[in-house]
Amino acid sequence: MAENYYDILGIEKGATQDEVKKAYRKMARKYHPDLNPGDKEAESKFKEVSEAYGVLSDEEKRKQYDQLGHDAFKNGGHGYDFSGSNFEDIRDQFSGFGFDDLFGDIFGMGGGSARRADRPTQGEDLYYTVKIPFVDSIKGREYELNIVHTVSCEKCGGKGGDKSTCTVCQGTGKSSHNRGGFFVNSVCSNCGGSGKITTRQCNECYGKGEKEVKERIKVRIPAGVDKGSKVKVKNKGNAGRNGGPQGHLFIITNVEDHPVYRREGHSLYVDIDVDMFEASLGRKIEVPTPYGNININVPAGTQPGQKFRIRNKGVPKLKGDGNGDLYVVVNVVIPQVAIGEDRETLEEMQKRYATGLRDEVLKKGKI
Ligand SMILES: [Zn+2]
Ligand SMILES: [Zn+2]
Repeated sequence: MAENYYDILGIEKGATQDEVKKAYRKMARKYHPDLNPGDKEAESKFKEVSEAYGVLSDEEKRKQYDQLGHDAFKNGGHGYDFSGSNFEDIRDQFSGFGFDDLFGDIFGMGGGSARRADRPTQGEDLYYTVKIPFVDSIKGREYELNIVHTVSCEKCGGKGGDKSTCTVCQGTGKSSHNRGGFFVNSVCSNCGGSGKITTRQCNECYGKGEKEVKERIKVRIPAGVDKGSKVKVKNKGNAGRNGGPQGHLFIITNVEDHPVYRREGHSLYVDIDVDMFEASLGRKIEVPTPYGNININVPAGTQPGQKFRIRNKGVPKLKGDGNGDLYVVVNVVIPQVAIGEDRETLEEMQKRYATGLRDEVLKKGKI
């Protein structure tokens, strides 16, 4: 494993933003999971370079990284944590480049279907991971988040300034080379593939056509989200290009475990201790549910591990109506000491009940 993010991207410490971007594109193409299906090593390599790019492409974070060193960044703060006090707005590391961005000029070349450089394209989607307490996954909640995304520059209407058609590629954004009888297209180096040359740069966005802004947004996390659920927030991704629509923001929920409830799909499980007398004689007992305590009947003769289903007290269904069910799983607690009279009573009972229990298994176990 490389020592630091510069090594991971194979660049010098003083590399320009352009060099960072180029290095990332090169690496990401090589290791992208879509090009290396099932290749775990490529996958982890891709994560590494994405992480490196996420930090080094952001001036603010890069400065911190240079000051604080690699260890301070390695596992830290990729997202929000609502379970504690660690509110950090760090952008998801996998955003920044869409698939089209990385591969458009590999797969989109030649033929009539080549994409036009100035085609309006939707902005990239952004992904934020949000850690939420269990209770919020059951009841839903509105969160406020600080996000960082790009928006189209108002001053130049997203154009970046005044433009004219590139004379080298006649606006196609591509140039052709003859390589051993094959015509190979590559990006026009004069205009960088855009097909246009800026004649006067917008002084608001420095020709980028978009600006990075911080925004505080409200997100309704619906009741029923699970680990890895995606909540879509429309039009809060990055700016579209050439007048294309804004991308979307996706909140990925990471739900904390709960000390009492276990979740499986829409079902919840809760372990409940009953003593052997309650199990044997039957008893009405109080059990917790996320919607308040309720009473259930533990019937006489209940066995350890026996489950009781309580309809509709499980997890709300995200799509469709109603809830899943809650299962109360009985754990029978045996008293550890029985002395004097109690012991005699138990021994008396044992004579009547505990005979022949293992006859069957002893018979069948003989092979
Ligand atoms: Zn502008
Ligand atoms: Zn050109």
